[in-house]
Amino acid sequence: MRIGNVDVKELVRDYQTPLYVYDEGKIKSVVKEFKDNFKSDNFSTDVLFACKALDCLYMYNLANKLGLCLDCVTGGEIYGAYKAGFNMKNVFFHGNNKSEDEILMAGKYGVGNIIIDNLDEVKMLEEVLKDTDYHFNVMMRINIGVSAHTHQYIITAHPDSKFGFFIESEDIFTAVEMIKKNKNLSFKGFHSHIGSQIFDKEGFLIAVSKLFGLMAKFDFEFEWLNLGGGFGIKYTDEDKPIPYDEVSKMLIDKVNEEMKSTGIKISRLLIEPGRSIVGEAGYTLYTIGQLKKTKNKMYYFIDGGMSDNIRPALYQAKYACDVVDKESSEKKNLVCIAGKCCESGDVIIEDILLPEAKKNDILVVYSTGAYGYSMSSNYNKMLKPAMVFVDNGNVKLACKRQSYDDLYANEEI
Ligand SMILES: *Cc1c(COP(=O)(O)O)cnc(C)c1O
Repeated sequence: MRIGNVDVKELVRDYQTPLYVYDEGKIKSVVKEFKDNFKSDNFSTDVLFACKALDCLYMYNLANKLGLCLDCVTGGEIYGAYKAGFNMKNVFFHGNNKSEDEILMAGKYGVGNIIIDNLDEVKMLEEVLKDTDYHFNVMMRINIGVSAHTHQYIITAHPDSKFGFFIESEDIFTAVEMIKKNKNLSFKGFHSHIGSQIFDKEGFLIAVSKLFGLMAKFDFEFEWLNLGGGFGIKYTDEDKPIPYDEVSKMLIDKVNEEMKSTGIKISRLLIEPGRSIVGEAGYTLYTIGQLKKTKNKMYYFIDGGMSDNIRPALYQAKYACDVVDKESSEKKNLVCIAGKCCESGDVIIEDILLPEAKKNDILVVYSTGAYGYSMSSNYNKMLKPAMVFVDNGNVKLACKRQSYDDLYANEEI
């Protein structure tokens, strides 16, 4: 088996397991698919990478080289982007509870844009920025009352989400007025993000209509509109994502249609995919250790688990896998892939048909590129795995495996 034209066995020999492997070519082709199709003659467009899906220096740098903007949510992500040489004007600072220190840090590092979550934040920005000459373009996150996940969207009309200004709230008008008066801030427009791993087109279309409906309540020109991310990816054969060229064109067409029917113009349209950019490009390699047969189950134990991929335990995420170099052997065992942490929920795949395997075989889990490494932990004092990027036969170590000393570096007796 090869990834990015490199033999998987070679990667295991050189970097051991568990190992995160990214096929850089795949990331580049997804970005190209978005960029080639998410454009219009009537306004400019940009694709932001929601970096929480994979927040590491290598990826910030790659995103910058690919001409993406960056959605950051914490001081830690902003610092990383800065360290990686990201063009900070293209960073969008998101989040529902930014601290004063983080705002000042964003100013110092030249972050260009802030996406404001709530009225309290506007007041904080006024206060923190008043004696500085920092300047930000700002958008406001709107909770449009539609939430979409996987196969369904739900019109929740839910005013109580943690994120954004509820679309019917008077706070929106108060905030816009305050922002427009402020010398440190330039109001650019609205943002909405309706959910994640979405396969249904309808939710996105409703979001666009609702945002135009909101803009129609104001009597000034809007400049930017940000439609968020959430485009679904394929984890297993059951997943049927909307192709990215199709979803891009659909959003562009819908915005053009709304501009025509409402007479409202925008000059820049943004989307902020995370999962779709890195998800399918990522693979996790594990070494199989002990095998165990219980009354009704067969376990293949791996040398990682929930510490490097919490998604199955956190939200019953499903994955597919293969035993390396036995992909075409008869898949006759129904097995459970379990990790080595002390939690019965430490399972990567609950049931999957696999060939007979033995100790030291390599297991590859597919589509682990998003929210895997970035959600990894040191639970049970497990070491965070190494991460490599492969591209056309070249291998680059993006992140070393932690050492036992790294684990205790901040601790004292
Ligand atoms: C998480 C998030 C994204 C990215 O979502 P994906 O499902 O990874 O595409 C985009 N925008 C905001 C505001 C988010 O919170």
